[in-house]
Amino acid sequence: MKCSQGENFSKGELQRFGNIELSPSAGILNYGQGLFEGLKAYRKHDGNILLFRPEENAMRLNMGAERMCMPSPSVEQFVEAVKATVLANERWIPPPGKGSLYIRPLLMGSGAVLGLAPAPAYTFLIYVSPVGNYFKEGLAPINLVVETEMHRATPGGTGGVKTVGNYAAVLKAQSAAKAKGYSDVLYLDSVQKRYLEEVSSCNVFIVKGNLIVTPAIKGTILPGITRKSIIDVALSQGFQVEERLVSVDELLDADEVFCTGTAVVVSPVGSITHQGKRVTYGNNGVGLVSQQLYSALTSLQMGLTEDKMGWIVKLK
Ligand code: PMP
Repeated sequence: MKCSQGENFSKGELQRFGNIELSPSAGILNYGQGLFEGLKAYRKHDGNILLFRPEENAMRLNMGAERMCMPSPSVEQFVEAVKATVLANERWIPPPGKGSLYIRPLLMGSGAVLGLAPAPAYTFLIYVSPVGNYFKEGLAPINLVVETEMHRATPGGTGGVKTVGNYAAVLKAQSAAKAKGYSDVLYLDSVQKRYLEEVSSCNVFIVKGNLIVTPAIKGTILPGITRKSIIDVALSQGFQVEERLVSVDELLDADEVFCTGTAVVVSPVGSITHQGKRVTYGNNGVGLVSQQLYSALTSLQMGLTEDKMGWIVKLK
């Protein structure tokens, strides 16, 4: 789908996957005008194909587009384009229980621009790929390291939207952590360097008894759709949930820590290393609460339990 600045996106078309042509002075290449989304399609035993809350991704893209001075497809256009792309790629959706089809919508300033300004024209495209587990550990616990030097976002910046540059900002810390054997990095706020933010591509939760705590959304972390869904699932299961500032010290006496995201779903954290000290959780096993929430969410996404929340969109 294409559109010029100030206009609406026109109806798109399906195209075979391949390279695309861009001007060397395209807005995305020079000034980072790019946003993406990530969602998954699951295949059910009865042949149904399910999407999980795609209109939430559409709304998040709209919000990001506003921050990045970009036009955005409407929620209906977005959801229709996702449906059409998934149906056209049905053969790539793994069998039930063997993974899912990852869907990557991408909105970019594709028009040429030389002086710093929003691009004159925009492209919205979607591509897909079959995926298994995000972390090589699968549902096994991941090991995080708290990053104290580098930050992924600053107040007033773009940390709260899913823009491409946010991911460029985390590559160095993430690569260094992986080279030392960690699964990923846990970021702190850039002002007081004391409060938890999120992991490179997922949100973080702490469990203490019946209480589940997660950093509040305040512009520097991505409002994860899995995060929002897990909060509702946890509340419906009788947990108490708090969204607030979470000090790094709270990691020390947590019972469990887990991460949430479309790619990682719910990933239990086995250990967190901060300033050289390693804290372990649940005997390096999968915590009961993390496991319970993982099962509740995945069985909903795969259509194995009743969709009481109305979150599932059936494609066929
Ligand atoms: N934070 C960041 C930085 C992410 O890239 C993602 C993945 N989209 C998330 C959190 C989790 O968001 P969601 O649950 O919508 O996938």
